[in-house]
Amino acid sequence: MTGATPHSAEARWTPASLQAGGWRITALYDATFGLDGGAMWGVVPKNLWARLTPPAEDNTIRLAARPFLAEKDGVKVVIEGGMGDRWDDKFRKIYRLERPEATTLRATLAALDVGPEDIDHVVVSHCHFDHIGALVEQRGDQLEPLFPRARHHFPTAEVGAARVAMHPRRASYRADDIDPLVERGLVEMHDGDHRLFEDLEMVQVCGHSEGMVVIRFNAGGEGNSAAFWGDLIPTTHHIQPPYIMAYDMDVPRSFSMRTEWLARAADEGIVGMSYHDPERAFTRLERDGKRYVAVDVPEVAVGD
Ligand SMILES: [Zn+2]
Repeated sequence: MTGATPHSAEARWTPASLQAGGWRITALYDATFGLDGGAMWGVVPKNLWARLTPPAEDNTIRLAARPFLAEKDGVKVVIEGGMGDRWDDKFRKIYRLERPEATTLRATLAALDVGPEDIDHVVVSHCHFDHIGALVEQRGDQLEPLFPRARHHFPTAEVGAARVAMHPRRASYRADDIDPLVERGLVEMHDGDHRLFEDLEMVQVCGHSEGMVVIRFNAGGEGNSAAFWGDLIPTTHHIQPPYIMAYDMDVPRSFSMRTEWLARAADEGIVGMSYHDPERAFTRLERDGKRYVAVDVPEVAVGD
């Protein structure tokens, strides 16, 4: 069934894929963690969101950090960089960081017979720690890139935001997630929209953060067209335009971006790739009157 996501101690990561034009996209897995439900739902009343994402006793809701692997003609691209392991016990407790099956970005790739040196590109939506933390590993007293060969494509504004001492979302960025990659010459920054391949592009959708992009596969092509939403649509429950996280910096901008992209996703049948949803990796949107509903997309078991 689902793209892969332990959200309870019993659950197991089962790799599942989707074909989008020439791209084979496989849901990986890095971690499960918890964030305050109120912060994840902004002005949405708790009696509404608690039905969609039931909170624990400390009011946190379960979230996944789910990167994806995209492959085409021998090119391997990792989408989004997980939470990683560079967290102390205090943080692990606060964020309820869990890996029920000891899965990590590295381990789930290894389960697909993909080694770190096989990755050609890393594309990320934005540079918050829960989206790029696994791209740098602690080895002894050194910080080393997980993917030593990969070109890491970061929005310029995100790298900038991570380096501003007085940034209002200071707590969401760590320079250590970025600097070791920059020092080794692995980072390529891009401003605004950016096309990496003919059928893989980043489209800027700021609002949540200064430089966030949606990552599009096979837009307008034959077969499935897919989009990695990043935090534009953080879970498959955040699918009405006003369901905006309290973390978002520019709420009017988020609202207009979400209004535009939710409509486009429903009208064009775009397959959404979900990063934080602990249960569903791939869904499509349909209209139900004025509202949207997320429907499952048939996935292909890896190896088929
Ligand atoms: Zn996030």
